[in-house]
Amino acid sequence: MRRDFLKKTGTGMAAASLASLGGCGPGHQELCTKPAGGRVIDVHCHVVPERYQDALKVMDDNFIRYGVIIGSLVGTDAKMITGDQAFYQLLEGIRPYRQRLGVMYSFDWSLIQTEPDFFNTAPDRLEKAVTAGGLGVKSFKDLGLEVKDKDGKLLPIDDPRLFPVWERAEKLGCVVAFHTGDPKPFFEPITPENERYEELHLHPEWSFADPAKYPKRDVILEQRNNVIRKFKNVKFQCVHVANKPEEIKTVAAWLEEMPNLYPDVAARLGEIGRLPAAEVHDVFTRFSDRFMFGTDRAWWGDCGVQGAGPCKPFTAAEDKWFYNTHWRYFQTTDQQFDHPTPVQGKWKINGIGLSEAAAKKLYWDNAYKLYKLDKLGVA
Ligand SMILES: [Zn+2]
Repeated sequence: MRRDFLKKTGTGMAAASLASLGGCGPGHQELCTKPAGGRVIDVHCHVVPERYQDALKVMDDNFIRYGVIIGSLVGTDAKMITGDQAFYQLLEGIRPYRQRLGVMYSFDWSLIQTEPDFFNTAPDRLEKAVTAGGLGVKSFKDLGLEVKDKDGKLLPIDDPRLFPVWERAEKLGCVVAFHTGDPKPFFEPITPENERYEELHLHPEWSFADPAKYPKRDVILEQRNNVIRKFKNVKFQCVHVANKPEEIKTVAAWLEEMPNLYPDVAARLGEIGRLPAAEVHDVFTRFSDRFMFGTDRAWWGDCGVQGAGPCKPFTAAEDKWFYNTHWRYFQTTDQQFDHPTPVQGKWKINGIGLSEAAAKKLYWDNAYKLYKLDKLGVA
């Protein structure tokens, strides 16, 4: 009985805080905007099979019609596995939800060390995954930064031994997604001048600043771009605003140069949001056929992540705030409000006020075309 009582009280409190947040109006402007078009594709989320139901509930509550599980990762926050086993678990699990969730395949690069024939068999692994229903292949940031060949040398992203993989992606007509590098401060020395000092001080293992261990950020971004240039018929999703959110003009130049590059915006509203809003508005308008919406919302085995930050459970009200802050950023010109990933910095952001047409392309059309979601009956 006592447990029952506690349970009811808990629910009551959650409902009360939802109600206080639910009202759109003075003090709660962040909840006033609805996404243009009323339906959204999130091209960058992470969900493990045992959390599919939880994720779908949050998606339903927040206009997310379809989610791309961006890479094969399963497990808990502390312990994850990737590669074929993870991919087929994810794929099997989405069987009943094929019109709501899709999965990208990821290679387990450690096989380079253990499978003598890895590079020859890798294209077939990808083909098998895509034939089984995978949407394409996603490389995590370890490629470029940490993945080594059998001689113990870093494997550059544009290494010719990987070309057959990208060739196979071209033949299959599937998406190739790259996460390359990380935020700029992670490549700079951990000193109090570093704007992510607190975070890096707590997690020195996140730093890629040691030149003896890691290539420079621009070097690996250039390696990635070399692949995009060479494989012109492959469409590349470059996550986190092409991993250069601090320099939207550079991203614009890349978009101009490489028509097969499609950035997603996942977990980088904090970065683009502090740039001059007019500049960001112009780039998102000029390339409105290319940017795709994503959040990096994750549902791991034991906890969740809203783009970046601690892995913990989130309430419905917190999720509503998280997604609504995205609509607010893209569709209003509100000034100086909190961004969705506060752990990335304490500054405020300014909305860019996209046109309804541009916002609809960002939320829906671009991803729908890129991922050929008509074939899956997504609507
Ligand atoms: Zn992610």
